[in-house]
Amino acid sequence: MAIRGLDELSWMKNGCEECRGGALSGMYSPEAAARFQLPVKPPAFVCTSTEVCVDLYHCNKCGAWWEFNQREVHVINEDAAKAIYPALKTGER
Ligand SMILES: [Zn+2]
Repeated sequence: MAIRGLDELSWMKNGCEECRGGALSGMYSPEAAARFQLPVKPPAFVCTSTEVCVDLYHCNKCGAWWEFNQREVHVINEDAAKAIYPALKTGER
């Protein structure tokens, strides 16, 4: 996962050590973790927004909501997550 454009300081504001590690290593992906025979790390996939072509992930450890697109990954707050992903409000996933 590319994190170009993010300096280290702003990167460290995203989520917790565990979900940052998962996002950086790619081990948030069950397929990737299985390939390397490693445990799956947070954040866990929640849903995809077809409107903005972004995948939403959530860290159960620190509660961070992560947006993954093809170019970068970052954390958004819960209100933004609910606004962008209406399915979250209704509990549908
Ligand atoms: Zn976390």
